Amino acid sequence: MKDKLFIAGQWVAPVKGGSFDVVNPATEQTIHRAPAGTAEDIDLAVAAARQAFDVGPWPRMSGRERAVILRRIADIILAEKHALAHLEVLDNGKPLPEAIWDIEDVAGCFNLYATFAEELDENPEEPIALADARFSSKAVREPIGVAGAIIPWNYPLLMAAWKVAPALAAGCTMVLKPSELTPLTALELGAIVERAGLPAGVLNIVSGLGPDAGQPLSEHPGIDKLAFTGSVATGSKIMATAARDIKNISLELGGKSPFVVFADSDIEKAVEWIMFGIFWNQGQVCSATSRVLVEESLYAPLLERLVAEAAKIRIGDGLADGTLLGPLVSSGQYQKVLAAIARGKAEGATIAGGGKRPEGFDTGYFLEPTILIDMTENSFIWTEEIFGPVVCVKPFRDEADAIRMANDSRFGLAAAVMSKDKARCERVAKGLRAGIVWINCSQPTFAEAPWGGYKQSGIGRELGRWGLSNYLETKQITTFESDDPWGWYIK
Ligand code: NAP
Ligand code: MG
Repeated sequence: MKDKLFIAGQWVAPVKGGSFDVVNPATEQTIHRAPAGTAEDIDLAVAAARQAFDVGPWPRMSGRERAVILRRIADIILAEKHALAHLEVLDNGKPLPEAIWDIEDVAGCFNLYATFAEELDENPEEPIALADARFSSKAVREPIGVAGAIIPWNYPLLMAAWKVAPALAAGCTMVLKPSELTPLTALELGAIVERAGLPAGVLNIVSGLGPDAGQPLSEHPGIDKLAFTGSVATGSKIMATAARDIKNISLELGGKSPFVVFADSDIEKAVEWIMFGIFWNQGQVCSATSRVLVEESLYAPLLERLVAEAAKIRIGDGLADGTLLGPLVSSGQYQKVLAAIARGKAEGATIAGGGKRPEGFDTGYFLEPTILIDMTENSFIWTEEIFGPVVCVKPFRDEADAIRMANDSRFGLAAAVMSKDKARCERVAKGLRAGIVWINCSQPTFAEAPWGGYKQSGIGRELGRWGLSNYLETKQITTFESDDPWGWYIK
């Protein structure tokens, strides 16, 4: 476990020398003291990234050359998959097989953006047809400059990869600030890029607390772009800060995503995907389908099967064999989720399953898979993101009713629809106001496809070619090709 920051290719102690506790949420034990960066360290990191961008080799290399290093990063990550996954479990609490899956996705993300970096060489400029034949014009794409990345704790290394891989592919340099709750694997990434031969200063990693390290990064005049994933509240602050310097930002925020299940659905398949949609990663998933809408005639039998299956989910330490539900990430998150359930009950909801600390678990931030029903459409539990293994289930009358209820939210990150009628699924998918719609499943995420939200769920798209565009500027180069004088002032 690293106890230094990674700045300008060096491992350095924070200027002020601070550190903070890293806690294993399954045991509540402090397992490490991570370096607490502050504004002084952010200054050094931004200066290193600036230097690496302005005079260093990285932005000047071909896409093909950058791809070689990106693939080496992917190879090292795969070679260290088990060690990285183990760290992720200690830090975040998630079940080990899910952590291994995450790390494989991290490597996949670096490999995908290696391919996109090569493609930048193939199409270095796009000719533009002008109405005035005396001129020629072309559009070229260039790296946006120094990027800042602030990420959450739910997929610690994967959320880093979603920003670092496209930024590096584009030729940008970067300062990365992981969440204080899960800094371990992000700091390891420093050692990985070092071994892969990434030039010094291209990626700088400063762990630290949100207000002490995140805020100075988001406010820094030396960065050209800020990519943020986290809560709406912090995203809003970042957007306000960015307004001052007209900074380019992309925001991936929260959600309260609906899952619409029609009565012709196979009940077992529906239960399987509903559970994956809300209990995977302890429900700490921005796209979790936390509002399940079930067509009236299927509501009672589906609820019965869901409650029965949820009760069987194996709860435990993420490192224990067979665990499907680990602890929540932190004491703070645990208290927040318990308070939300209590508020749900106070506002009239009924607990159909779970709702409390599981028996036999005295330590660790463990919570039973929780199913709530009978809440009103304007209640807190139905409208606000809980970010835990807590699902709300409600019946709907018909297709129009389902679409209305699904869209009645300030969020619009994801949505899912299930029916045997493909045409109906397509129709509903088009009617849902969300950036990601799953048909007959919930949550499968592919690095090739665009990811991001409508409404308060964010601005911009990550992943795929959309993610690469976040880190590219577009420049037009226009040439006067005529031998004749222009003839406006000087005839
Ligand atoms: P958060 O509190 O907003 O924190 C996100 C990041 O911002 C952390 O690194 C945090 O540092 C930092 N931060 C806190 N205050 C800051 C400030 N004033 N200025 C700059 N940075 C600051 O969110 P979270 O609780 O970690 O994550 C959960 C949220 O993320 C949920 O709402 C979820 O929906 C969203 N999320 C969205 C996606 C997506 O793709 N759309 C993916 C994952 C999560 P500290 O941790 O040190 O406080
Ligand atoms: Mg932790």
